[in-house]
Amino acid sequence: MTTPGNGIFDLLIRNVRITERGALTDIAISNGRIGAIAPNLRCEAVESFEGAGAFAFSGFVDTHIHLDKAGILGRCQICEGTLAEAVRETSKAKSGFTEDDVYARAARVVEQAIAHGTTRMRSFVEIDPRAGLRSFEAIKRIRSDYAFAIDIEICAFAQDGLTNEPETFAMLDAALSAGADLVGGCPYTDPDPVRHVDMIFELAVKHGVAADFHLDFNLDPTHTDLPAVIAATRRHGWQGRVALGHVTNLSAMAPADVAAIAIELAQVGIAVSVLPATDLFLTGRSHDRLVPRGVAPAHILAAHGVVTSVATNNILNPFTPYGDASLMRMANLYANVAQLSRDEDISGVFDMVASAAARQLAAPHGLTVGGDATIILIDSDGPCAAVREIAPVITGWKSGRRSFDNGRTQVFRPANTPAKGFIR
Ligand SMILES: [Zn+2]
Repeated sequence: MTTPGNGIFDLLIRNVRITERGALTDIAISNGRIGAIAPNLRCEAVESFEGAGAFAFSGFVDTHIHLDKAGILGRCQICEGTLAEAVRETSKAKSGFTEDDVYARAARVVEQAIAHGTTRMRSFVEIDPRAGLRSFEAIKRIRSDYAFAIDIEICAFAQDGLTNEPETFAMLDAALSAGADLVGGCPYTDPDPVRHVDMIFELAVKHGVAADFHLDFNLDPTHTDLPAVIAATRRHGWQGRVALGHVTNLSAMAPADVAAIAIELAQVGIAVSVLPATDLFLTGRSHDRLVPRGVAPAHILAAHGVVTSVATNNILNPFTPYGDASLMRMANLYANVAQLSRDEDISGVFDMVASAAARQLAAPHGLTVGGDATIILIDSDGPCAAVREIAPVITGWKSGRRSFDNGRTQVFRPANTPAKGFIR
């Protein structure tokens, strides 16, 4: 075993599992990196933590969240519960956003996400004549102020169209020169969706950044902007740098058609974020019974090799009037809605909020000797059990530094009552 210079580790996390029901192991940390992973490590450490059988991993990765417009329910009306209404109401509300207001609402969500074990997220930030650059400036401050616990990337996002509002293009361009990490488009709100896709790619290529599209947010299998995104991805050689959110129309297609699209997405290297909370709330509003779920089949896309994630999207706004930034809960919601039951399928859903989600953001993930000591402990036997039970997140470290602690549930039994274990 390699020990650091003075022979003493900074931190030793004892008795955790790193695979489903795997043997207990210890993790030793020095200078923010993992120095050793092995059972019963015999070494000195400044501090030690008893994992007591918890599952340890690199943390959840939220591939798609809107920090700028979270927590605005009190400023909006929801009468129809449709996508059109959500876009309209939010667009009205954002004219009144101030930088401090965006910061305060985003900080609340980021702190919830941290406490739920999220260590990385991609936040969309709307930049247009109504929002100006105020939301962007606020989220940049959030990115820097919370870097001790979470890596946040900022997607400069055109929610309300581009061809209809050309000044937005220059504003996105300016944001990309001023610290935005990537660019995002929303063809479904643009009168010319194909031109919209091309304009977003123009910015992505100019700045050498990834592109992320809100796409095909409908239940009409014949209505799609996907060919334009696939063609542009190929044309610019942007494979592995393009992601799509929603794609709810996949939920209305025959399995063979879904498979054909999945194979093409895998080949062209386009990733997909499925956003069950929003999709369940907004789609199928024209049905008064047997309401369609409107959630794209993430597990089927993943089975065909598409990099697929499940993500939060919105919290407490007209797009999703619920939310707590828990990806554990979102994974459970997806698995439930998708009617999954087999262990391997449910473990696959855990990957969609962890390792596969990290792959979508081209970010490292996984506990390895020499790797970053960002470690989250879940009170669970492993990924599958965690998703089934919405297992509580206990505590976490970012690069070896403790970043939050929820503690473990304690049950105070009366004296002389025998402790009862849960039979899994
Ligand atoms: Zn979104």
